[in-house]
Amino acid sequence: MKKPVSINKIIVQKYGGSSLSSPRKIREVSSLIAKKKDEGNSLVIIVSAMGKSTDELVSLIGEVADKNIPDPREMDILLSTGEIVSSTLMAIALKSKGYDAVSLNGTQAGITTDSSHGAARIRDINPDRIRNELAFGRIVIIAGFQGRSETGEVTTLGRGGSDTSAVAVAVALEAEQCEIYTDVQGIYTTDPAITDAARKLDVINFEEMLEMASLGAKMNPRSIELAALYDMPLYVASTFSRVNGTFIHGDTKIMEERKAVTGIAVDRNVSKISVLGVMDRPGVAAELLKPLSESGISVDVIVQNTSVDGTTDFTFTVDESVLDQAYQLMKNQNNIIFNDVIAGRGLAKISVVGTGMQNTPGYASLMFETLADEGINIDMITTSEIRITTIIDKNSVDQAVQSLHKSFNLEKPD
Ligand code: ASP
Ligand code: MG
Repeated sequence: MKKPVSINKIIVQKYGGSSLSSPRKIREVSSLIAKKKDEGNSLVIIVSAMGKSTDELVSLIGEVADKNIPDPREMDILLSTGEIVSSTLMAIALKSKGYDAVSLNGTQAGITTDSSHGAARIRDINPDRIRNELAFGRIVIIAGFQGRSETGEVTTLGRGGSDTSAVAVAVALEAEQCEIYTDVQGIYTTDPAITDAARKLDVINFEEMLEMASLGAKMNPRSIELAALYDMPLYVASTFSRVNGTFIHGDTKIMEERKAVTGIAVDRNVSKISVLGVMDRPGVAAELLKPLSESGISVDVIVQNTSVDGTTDFTFTVDESVLDQAYQLMKNQNNIIFNDVIAGRGLAKISVVGTGMQNTPGYASLMFETLADEGINIDMITTSEIRITTIIDKNSVDQAVQSLHKSFNLEKPD
């Protein structure tokens, strides 16, 4: 029997599905992992399912079921197999190169979640098994996106959940950082598909990254929240290129020397609902929005006018995919008196993001002037300490982002 050796510096890496989309790519990644091992590190690797295989598993369900009756338990076991395929193949690839490796599914890795199938949240990780394997000098390959509920069922964390698995494992092992390898080179000032001027950032802090989470590396916002909560630095980089990636961390020491604005975030799936002539009284806003929260619909930007002659107009945005449902819920309100409900599609949300904007005037007016100069109408406005958001017509997104990127000088390095 092999004797335990001491655990060296633990490195936690996650590889996304696009980096593992074929047997050849799995072999290539296994070579990268082997090289890291040769440098003397203790390695814990979290993998996503190969390529689009999770989507393929989802579509298989439709092919065997006559009726579309959701079966969350069976579905989670099915979907969890995607990551089991990639983790076992990775372990086999490493072993065939002469490296000692072991694959662990979520349960074996000690990942406990709540029991909400398809959207489970990690409760706890018992890292004993992982540590034990590391102590034997093994490379540990963990199937991402999954865990075990307290009643022993297999759960999945929701689409894109492997990022969250990786951060949680890094936290449980007290790793120095969590490395996320993907098919883009890092986090960009804005979507590079919109403007060639988009620039890869060397660093970004957690708060900004949360706002930007839909861009560039398309990181799962939950993983950023978790990293921020436990102050676990992330490094996002391309799997197959040597180019430096982006550090995401909580360090604010250099904040005042940095640019006030870090990037421009875009969401193209925005629609709005206006409830007109609402009889105003205390509690009306809460009542109006209650059916939405009860149906799990989240409301984003909310605007309420001051009431004139006892009535007020209410406008809020929801994701385009739930517009019809939200519209019906508003129409069916019977405790509230109002004149009309109007739904509007085809909107987009553009946000200028940066912690350096806090307590500094002038950024909002620069944003509004830039859009005005382009002849772009602003539909709604909302701000937070680190963000100015406008709702505009979807067709104007590219023009708006290109001009804002220029007026906020984002193409130039910090
Ligand atoms: N395989 C899962 C998905 O496609 C989880 C992940 O890739 O992070 O959503
Ligand atoms: Mg993925």
